[in-house]
Amino acid sequence: MTAFAELMAFNRQTEALGAVAERLGWDQETMMPETAAEQRAEEMAAMEGMLHARRTDPRHANWLAKAEAPDDAGRAALHHIRRSYTRATKVPVDLAEALARLTSTAQRVWARAREAEDVEAFLPTLKQVIALKREEAAFLAIGGDLYDALIDDYEPGATADTLGEMFGRMRPRLVALREKVLACPMPAAVSGHFPQAAQLVLARDVASDFGYDWSRGRLDLAVHPFSSGGNTDSRITTRVVERDPFNCIYSTIHEVGHSSYELAIDPAYAFTPLGHGVSMGVHESQSRIYENQIGRSRAFAQHLFARMQAQFGDFGTATAEDFYRSINRVQPGFIRTEADEVHYNLHIMMRFDLERALIRGDLAVDDLEAAWNDRFLADFGVAVDRPSHGMLQDVHWSCGLFGYFPTYTLGNVYAGCLNKAMRAAVPGLDAALAQGDTSGAAGWLRENVQRHGGLRTPRDTITHACGTEPSEGPLLDYLEQKFGDAYAL
Ligand code: ZN
Repeated sequence: MTAFAELMAFNRQTEALGAVAERLGWDQETMMPETAAEQRAEEMAAMEGMLHARRTDPRHANWLAKAEAPDDAGRAALHHIRRSYTRATKVPVDLAEALARLTSTAQRVWARAREAEDVEAFLPTLKQVIALKREEAAFLAIGGDLYDALIDDYEPGATADTLGEMFGRMRPRLVALREKVLACPMPAAVSGHFPQAAQLVLARDVASDFGYDWSRGRLDLAVHPFSSGGNTDSRITTRVVERDPFNCIYSTIHEVGHSSYELAIDPAYAFTPLGHGVSMGVHESQSRIYENQIGRSRAFAQHLFARMQAQFGDFGTATAEDFYRSINRVQPGFIRTEADEVHYNLHIMMRFDLERALIRGDLAVDDLEAAWNDRFLADFGVAVDRPSHGMLQDVHWSCGLFGYFPTYTLGNVYAGCLNKAMRAAVPGLDAALAQGDTSGAAGWLRENVQRHGGLRTPRDTITHACGTEPSEGPLLDYLEQKFGDAYAL
């Protein structure tokens, strides 16, 4: 057996065991009896320990030195394995274990603090998490920027400087658009009671409209919707709020986007590092383009309006155009996950600046709440009224996910680029969407982005699909055009 074949055989088992660990996580959030939490924590810790041992197995040094890849896919696989091995061996085992232990308890501390609206109860734990993340970043960065080292985990190749410059170019156009839109009368919101069972029927129908492959997936309820798995088994979850049907519909479409990406990857890449979405930013571009550029388009809104009427009868919205405007209402709000397309990226930019300052040591944790509230008032014109509407709203920091937030906006930017290229390439797209036929859009994304998995770098994945380097321009043009038109600016 060649060194390459030995390495790939070893990696194949690691990939399979990683998929088992992920399925345990899916089960925990959907099916597991409540009392099993402690048992499951021990089971997952055992899996993580074994996976870490495999990823840092010292035989990698020899395999990687000798392995010769037969083709582009092999070279890409070696690149991913080398990256993962280098990263895993840079961080001392006791630090990795301390972080894993701390972040699992920190999530519970955060949840209780948020419930009690008590920032003080979370700060000592957050200080510990940040201290350990800075230590970890120092091992990874080897003298470079600490925050860059953390971003690289989620979006290989991205840096705080280039992201910060891009956000700086986006902000004035987003703020100008927001000001113009908010000066207009706000469209009516859909209100009423929409029973759970009917919402779930609608969610399944809409997932089918987007081509979700039920033979390789399933839909379940979860507190925070997510998707899980890949290859021939990628599952989605959604949630239901009975007074707001769009929570369920758009959570479902979002997760169908993530899951469709995983399901579309070339089966030849299964159980290799190429068999996953290539980065958080590219993954989010798929969920966002399904949810927003397709799912909240005027054309698809016609179809969705008919589906809503079929499910709920007359629900108080008279025309498809009123419906389109109600699913694209722009209003300032405290909560990132409920933000409209115009406000969403402003939420991210604020978190990016705050967490960069925390990791670089420019902002003390004790000053975080004041910094958050000052910035929110300046950016959104509203004073934060309670911590769960402010710095305690997101789970990310308690999990140690520093450097993750910017990938959401990167995903929106990539979705803007892909939407422009897709619309140029697929004739009659809107006419098809108005009939509920997304096959042209989904087929273009599958062919040009999704099937390639981890073959190229994140940026090259988007460049390959669009024929041009990604930039923020197409997203901003799309937002100005869409909301300028919907609000008759
Ligand atoms: Zn997502």
